[in-house]
Amino acid sequence: MTVIQIEPDIQQKLAILSDEAADEMTAVPNEARIRQGIRHPTGFIYNATQEGGGTTRLFKVLQTNACRYACKYCFTSCAIRHQRTTFKPNELATTFVSLTQAKRVDGLFLSSGIVPDADTTMEKMLATVEQLRLRDGYTGYIHLKLIPGASYDLIARAVELADRVSLNLEAPNQARLSDLAPDKEFTESMWGRMVWASQLMRQARREGRQAARSLTTQFVVGAVGESDRELLETVQRAHRELGLWRAYFSVFHPIERSPLADQPAEDPTRALRLYQSDFMLRDYGFSYAELPFDEQGLLPRDKTPKQAWAEQHLFEPIEINRAPRHALLRVPGIGPRSADKIIAARRTVRLHDLVQLQALGVTIGWAAPYVLLDGRRAPVQLRLW
Ligand code: SF4
Repeated sequence: MTVIQIEPDIQQKLAILSDEAADEMTAVPNEARIRQGIRHPTGFIYNATQEGGGTTRLFKVLQTNACRYACKYCFTSCAIRHQRTTFKPNELATTFVSLTQAKRVDGLFLSSGIVPDADTTMEKMLATVEQLRLRDGYTGYIHLKLIPGASYDLIARAVELADRVSLNLEAPNQARLSDLAPDKEFTESMWGRMVWASQLMRQARREGRQAARSLTTQFVVGAVGESDRELLETVQRAHRELGLWRAYFSVFHPIERSPLADQPAEDPTRALRLYQSDFMLRDYGFSYAELPFDEQGLLPRDKTPKQAWAEQHLFEPIEINRAPRHALLRVPGIGPRSADKIIAARRTVRLHDLVQLQALGVTIGWAAPYVLLDGRRAPVQLRLW
């Protein structure tokens, strides 16, 4: 019998390769989306958070959905039979340029399955980006995935051409990774490549050269029994040693016909608590040792980690009119922005009631038990929790 294989056209490739890129995260979902377990919008255009604040519309796509690996959580895994296709660098660059000309997107997010090996995959992705930068003169935003195990020169070229690079660690350590993605190696081919990228970015900054400005990673949460403690230990190490800009947490959801198809989906609230803990480490001045893990290394789900910390440690109320910024940031319901607004406001007025705090962005139901307003505890009737 003769088998006739028909090569998908560009539109078909676009549909397949953008759909399979959907689980790659480019922005921290808002709380409502996390709680509802909404994974991602459909289509190929996604919002991404920028380093300086604000968002941009990204064309999110895979170079290929062929992959030699069999990661247990991934639809692109070679263990699942489905249609495979590949964008040639020229096709993908041209498709992206036409989307930018139509003003439908502002940037590119490019990832890929790995086939036949790390270097060949990375070379193809770099060829796409080089065409955009050198042939088409595209100077806009590009987020490029680094392929685990890729050679130093290719990582260096990626750092040179992209605005942001990322490598998904997927698991917090080798033991968990072996359960999740048996073909992958953590220390050298993943963490080690992030170390290279981080060093290359720092060197370029020192020398005033154009290079990627941020490095991110992503974890699969809840597939193989890893604890929140393990995840956040690796995240804080990545902040400290790699200057990681952001960690994304992708809650496990079973994929039909995959090795983990019968496993229940993870509770989306878990991702919310992980993000909140990461913000505590990154932006609020907390140390990893202060995070409120239980004996199993898990965070509470019924309250924020800062509320849990405050219940155990914040016994003296904080005077809002005098407290330094770092002390304000320890109060549940006060974040970096509201702390700055409090500091600015109290230069001109005394803050003496919760309504004033609410107007400055404080979640007063959370903050009220822990603050003094002009020497007095917040009135009980205004506590809204
Ligand atoms: S390497 Fe693993 S996670 Fe990446 S595309 Fe292949 S199977 Fe999926």
